[in-house]
This record gives sequence, C-alpha cells and structure tokens, in this order.
Amino acid sequence: MLPYSTHQLDEDDIQAVVAALRSGWLTTGPMIEAFEQDLAAVCQVRQAVALSSGTAALHAALNALGLGPGDEVLVPAMTFVATANAVHYTGATPVIVDVRASDLLLDVQAAESAITDRTRALIAVDYAGQPADYQPLRAMTSRHGLALVADACHSLGASYQGRAVGGLADLTCTSFHPVKPITTGEGGAVLTDDPELAARARRFRSHGLSLDAGERERRETWSYEMIELGYNYRLTDFQAALGRSQLAKLVDFIAARRVLAARYRTAWSGLPGLDLLTEQEDRQHGYHLFPVRVRAGLRDTWFKALRRQGIGVNVHYRPLNLHAFYQRQGWGRAGQCPVAEAAFEELLSMPIFPAMDEADMQRVLHSVSRLLATSAS
Ligand SMILES: *Cc1c(COP(=O)(O)O)cnc(C)c1O
Repeated sequence: MLPYSTHQLDEDDIQAVVAALRSGWLTTGPMIEAFEQDLAAVCQVRQAVALSSGTAALHAALNALGLGPGDEVLVPAMTFVATANAVHYTGATPVIVDVRASDLLLDVQAAESAITDRTRALIAVDYAGQPADYQPLRAMTSRHGLALVADACHSLGASYQGRAVGGLADLTCTSFHPVKPITTGEGGAVLTDDPELAARARRFRSHGLSLDAGERERRETWSYEMIELGYNYRLTDFQAALGRSQLAKLVDFIAARRVLAARYRTAWSGLPGLDLLTEQEDRQHGYHLFPVRVRAGLRDTWFKALRRQGIGVNVHYRPLNLHAFYQRQGWGRAGQCPVAEAAFEELLSMPIFPAMDEADMQRVLHSVSRLLATSAS
C-alpha cells in the first residue's frame, strides 16, 4: 500500500541514533541542546524547546501564555483534534472557527467575528503545509490584544513572505511524528523569539522545576524547587540525534515534495470532478499533505476504489465540531462551520512523501484518471 505520507530514514539517521545511544546519555543531554540550536537556526528564531510530541508542544505553548479556565482560544475547524485538545488541557475553552473555501486556511474575518471579552489567543493552523495568513492575523490579533500561536505541525520548512515558519507567531508548535516533515519517532518543539516564553515551556517540560537535571549538574547543586505544575514532556537524547540528522535533510525533503505536488497540479488542474486547493503566491508551501476535493457523494467510493488499488489515500480532517467529544461540549449542530463541513464531504489526501518515485506517481495518476472517467459517465 502506497502511504499518503511516510518518513524517510537513511543509514546516516540510523548511525546518528546509534552514536547517541553509545554516548552514555539517554534522556535530556547534549543532543537536545544541539537539536534545539539547529532548529532555531533553520527556523530563524531565537529559541527552540524540544518536547515529547507536537501535542505537548501545543500544551506547553498555551501554558506559557498563562491560559486557564474562563479564557477562550480561537481554533480553525479544519485541523487535527490535538489543536483544540491542548486548549482543554489548560482549562481554557476552544472556540471553533470556520475556514476559507479556497485553501481551507483559517478565515480571518470569521475569527474576528468570534472574539468575545474572554478571548485570549488564536491558534492558526498551516493546513497541509501552507502557512496561514500571518500578516492579517498579526494585525487582527494585536488590534484585539490576543496572543498568536501557530500550529505548524504540517509546515516546518515552509515560509511566508520570505520568512521561515517558526517566527511568524508569538509561539510556533511543530511535530516530529513519522508522517510529518521530519521525524524523531514521536516529538515536537516550541519555537519563539521570546526568551521568557521559551523558559516557561522548558520548565513545563520537566515538572515545572526551577532547574532541570542538566542545569543542576552544570551549577553543581542538588537544589531545585517546583515553581508551577508541569509534566514529563521530555524528548530523549537519541531522538534529538535523529531530529538533527533529519533536520539537515529538511530542504531536500521539501524539494522532493514540491516536485510531486507540481506533477499532480499539472495533471489535475482544471479537470471536472477534481478540485485542487489554492496555493497563495506570497508563501512557500511545505506539501505535508496533498488534499483534493472530489464530487460530494463520491468521496467514499473513491476512497475504497483507490485503497483497493493499493493507493493509501486518507481524509484530513473531520471538522472539530463534528467529533463526538466536541459535540458534547456544545458544538453538536451541523452548519456551525459550513465551509469546513462541505469540504469534509469531498476531501481526499493523495500520496505525497519524499521517497515516492515515478512508478508510484504513474500508479496514482492512472488510477485517478480511471476514476474520473467512470465518475463522469
Ligand atoms: C500531528 C499534529 C498535531 C500533533 O502532533 P503529535 O506530534 O502527533 O502530538 C497537532 N496539530 C496538527 C495540525 C497535527 O497535524
């Protein structure tokens, strides 16, 4: 089965992990710091904090902003559940906002209309790898005194108006899950230019302690104090070694994804029965996903037919307001996010990953042509 996305591990990645395992460090050690420095450099930000997952990164970022019960956070409907779940972890309430039809990125005007006197922050999601509208988002959030958080779990290595993902919001969260742009198995990071927010995220990663084990070692002290409630959200040193090795290939991975996306766009532009999402001109897409829209009512037929032919398509995403948990939180009524709900009926993510070769591409193009021919008749 051709996956919709998958990691690429080379011999040098494996050697990097083996070397870290032989170094004597297992958890937070020198590789964490080195990985954080590399990440900050690639993302053109002052601070990177490595965490155990993208979800932990979102939780740490929202905690760093001091969010809690009574606060509201705007989140787009078209995202993975973790974006909104992390808001719940802090005790705050996610407010689900609709997306724009052309590219399924957060609709800035819909977000502004959802602001109340309890709204404290907005999480923009770089859906499929395309950065959200950061310039209007920054203007809007600063006008209302809101923090801007980027869920960049899809978009590491992408850019907006020439600026790398990582420095486009007050805090940016990314994921190193195997399907994401680079992997550490499980892992994530918070990126920020603000040293205080970074320090809070770092403390949160290790139980809210004043000094972590490495820092106590350096200062030759046993003494630490728990400043606030934190978690064990640490990444291991051998995962950080894998992250460094993967990060060195991020540019090549994205270049390979870009070539594949261009092939799809050339083959499928303007075909009746198959709609592509708009790519905005002022940003560089990361192509984590290649979602297309098929005719409403045919999506499940396409899903089954393609899977039967060994093409592992997927659906990203069921809108947040249509999940049972969020329905119990009062988001039950269909029609609350009409654009995301209509898109959901039609979405299919086509295979795209760095190691996808010409034969794989031909298989997908051929199967889709056949489906288009049968759906037209
Ligand atoms: C993958 C993902 C997450 C969560 O990342 P994990 O590393 O799996 O915890 C959050 N938001 C989005 C949009 C994602 O795709």
